[in-house]
Amino acid sequence: MPKVVIAGNWKMHKTQREALEFLQDFKSHLEETPDDREVVLCAPFTALAVLSKTLHGGRIRLGAQNVHWEKSGAYTGEISSDMLTEIGVHYVVIGHSERRQYFGETDETVNLRVISAQKQGLTPIICVGESKAQRDAGETEKVIIKQIQGGLVNVDPKNLVIAYEPIWAIGTGETCESEEANRVIGLIRQQLDNPEVTIQYGGSVKPDNIDEIMAQSQINGALVGGASLDPAVFARIVNYR
Ligand code: PEP
Repeated sequence: MPKVVIAGNWKMHKTQREALEFLQDFKSHLEETPDDREVVLCAPFTALAVLSKTLHGGRIRLGAQNVHWEKSGAYTGEISSDMLTEIGVHYVVIGHSERRQYFGETDETVNLRVISAQKQGLTPIICVGESKAQRDAGETEKVIIKQIQGGLVNVDPKNLVIAYEPIWAIGTGETCESEEANRVIGLIRQQLDNPEVTIQYGGSVKPDNIDEIMAQSQINGALVGGASLDPAVFARIVNYR
């Protein structure tokens, strides 16, 4: 069975102080959390550094939201995979639709980032998903297959997580029907060489839909944006039943 991974994507939210306040509260909700799931906080770089010092191991893993493919060099604004592992980061979100839309991320650059992350021992969380226009045009399968095939060239199938995030469901409150998410995720699984890959659903995940989402046969976790910013709300998602 693939490992269950519930990850919060904080995007460009939380200062160091706010991150530490979150952590203190969040940890108090994890006492009853079953061991069958991995809990990940994908925080801004500055907050990662301070969270890592406070976590000292424990059951929460840290994730970054981007990584460059070179080890160092003249790449202003970027960060390398060994800079992330040095501060105790285990995961990195790659190819989020916001990076594709606002920062020119392509399947080719996703692929370069994934390979570099894996070389350094990071687990990439690779995001794929179709826009509303693509869904309405009946292109969901085509778009997803292209993103998977382009992003996963020469990638190690034993160390990756995929997040299926329909763009129209991100931050809109409009969740993809869980049966439909399950269907698309089943299709993604058919494209992979390893049946053990964790495939998450992302897009307006909330306490009132997580139980149904996690009951689906193909879904092994969630990538959570807005609802991961509040410790009690995110804890309810992590503690899905
Ligand atoms: C995301 O940012 O990956 C996401 C799924 O956001 P939200 O949960 O807010 O829709």
